[in-house]
Amino acid sequence: MKQSKLLIQTLRETPRDADVVSQQLMMRAGMIQKVAAGIYSYLPLAFRSIRKFEEIVREELAKDGCQELLMPAVLPADLWQESGRWKFYGDELLRFCDRKAKADMAERRQRGEKPDERDFYNFCLGPTHEEVITDVVRKNVRSYKQLPMNLFQIQTKFRDERRPRFGLMRGREFTMKDGYSFHADDACADREYWAMFNAYKRIFSRLGVKFRPVEADSGAIGGSFTHEFHVLAGSGEDAILSCNACDYTSNIEKTEAPGLPVGDHGKAFELKRDHFRTPGVVGQVEQAAGMIDADHPQGMPLTQTSKFFLYLATFADGTTQLAGAVLRGDHEVNPVKVKNFLGAAEMELMPLEEAEAFTGAKTGFMGPVGLQGVKMLVDRSLEGAVNLTCGANRTDYHHFGLDPARDLPGCTFADLRMAAEQDTCTRCGKGQYQAFRGIEVGQVFKLGTKYSKSMSCTFLDEQGKENPMVMGCYGIGITRTVAAAIEQNFDADGIIWPWPIAPYQVQVVCLDPGSEEVAGVASMVEKDLEAAGFEVLHDDREGLSPGAKFKDADLLGFPLRLTVGAKGLKDGLVELRDRRTKEVVKLKPEAAVAEVS
Ligand code: ATP
Ligand code: MG
Ligand code: MG
Ligand code: MG
Repeated sequence: MKQSKLLIQTLRETPRDADVVSQQLMMRAGMIQKVAAGIYSYLPLAFRSIRKFEEIVREELAKDGCQELLMPAVLPADLWQESGRWKFYGDELLRFCDRKAKADMAERRQRGEKPDERDFYNFCLGPTHEEVITDVVRKNVRSYKQLPMNLFQIQTKFRDERRPRFGLMRGREFTMKDGYSFHADDACADREYWAMFNAYKRIFSRLGVKFRPVEADSGAIGGSFTHEFHVLAGSGEDAILSCNACDYTSNIEKTEAPGLPVGDHGKAFELKRDHFRTPGVVGQVEQAAGMIDADHPQGMPLTQTSKFFLYLATFADGTTQLAGAVLRGDHEVNPVKVKNFLGAAEMELMPLEEAEAFTGAKTGFMGPVGLQGVKMLVDRSLEGAVNLTCGANRTDYHHFGLDPARDLPGCTFADLRMAAEQDTCTRCGKGQYQAFRGIEVGQVFKLGTKYSKSMSCTFLDEQGKENPMVMGCYGIGITRTVAAAIEQNFDADGIIWPWPIAPYQVQVVCLDPGSEEVAGVASMVEKDLEAAGFEVLHDDREGLSPGAKFKDADLLGFPLRLTVGAKGLKDGLVELRDRRTKEVVKLKPEAAVAEVS
């Protein structure tokens, strides 16, 4: 490929709105272009890398007999209502209505009514596809003989992230591989879980990045129901703890490090309580109050030991009420979901001082108002004949919008690290924890029968009895992974592509495109290399100094650079340079293929 024909514009300066290395370098290297917040065009170079990574994923999944299909991106509300998630998914789900719903709405308005537009939303953009795949399978699979089945797609997803940022790392539109498996029994689902776990290890190993599978939080049911795969990088939004003596590694949300409290995101908050300003653990529940987590495969009972952090909900009419959040040893109420559930306009974590003022209680325990607040939540959930959701589904798991700077004033990663590293590993009793920053690039999750039960996805077993299928789901952020690979592989001059996903493997740099001889040799090595199966970008651009060409080549960061210039050719030589090691070999043009291979 001739660079003079490539759609590319490199930038010398770092764009001002680019916060992390991958975003800066991808923008400077002309790989991505922002269309709107969290929405990007993938220009030719980026698209090549993305496609290469997709192929790696496809090849490895094929080894486990996974079948590829493609589901729609625009999804009907009905399916989401069936699973119960329409109500609970929160604002990441971009909902809208079609022309028929709009006409209905207009008609109601004409009659002088003031209908709420949200009641007419009948579609959404898919952030994940449990509902759709369950619908596909229930309509096509009847017998245990057809099971197990593992289906996946590579598709554009949309999540209306509260804070889209970091380029492809946290976009609103992004590409995901999402896979779903269906089984006749638990044991089979477990086997597939570990098969996918191993497939993910192969995938990220092939990519050539440093990664860790980490235990992740699946709610408080215990056991390893889910693992995340993290690429280790300083810009990661997640914190990971791993033991330096045994193989225990987990997301900090889930870790057992005793210096950090038990629970999920609660840890971060409690860490704040223990080490920093507290948001206020305010007491204990007196009565177990039923299931609070409709989204969780097994539900999450409130228990008597559940401790609460308080959330204040402000409603559209301006009134403010207490809305509790369960934490510690149990599970956290997702404030966004609570907000949606209550129809609250705003929801915020209440600082301790305010919590105290509000409850009239003293530091560190919950007064009666706190209990009432929680009771109100539970009552409301019963009124609605649905259980209050606290956010433990795979896709929607995290505490939305947790912002350390806001929620944990003064708590830095270094603080987290310090707190954690003082602990002895609870698994082996010997090692010390080490803390890393990680980018979540994938997750495997055992779903159980949540979706198959709520959506009647059943099969007939050997005895002819009808049972719900046991499900698992498995995601990889394709575009995020490509960005994460850059986060790990760069230097002051630009990207250093891992070979397997480099947009091109070799850049032939022609220093004197005006000279027929030099241009001829450059074209010849380009052709030779391509004939030998390498992907080559030939910088044949005229009117640029060698320095400018080298700068661009370093920025684009293909593994090998082959320089052809009049000077070298005088001795019959061209120069091959390794982007990572910067090692240079001089060789005859005819020897290029052998040297590259
Ligand atoms: P996060 O915790 O970063 O918000 P998630 O847990 O919500 O991610 P999943 O539902 O597990 O994400 O989706 C599977 C994969 O999709 C993630 O592991 C991640 O690699 C990718 N992904 C999720 N959200 C985004 C996003 N906003 N932009 C790019 N990739 C994403
Ligand atoms: Mg998310
Ligand atoms: Mg996550
Ligand atoms: Mg996840």
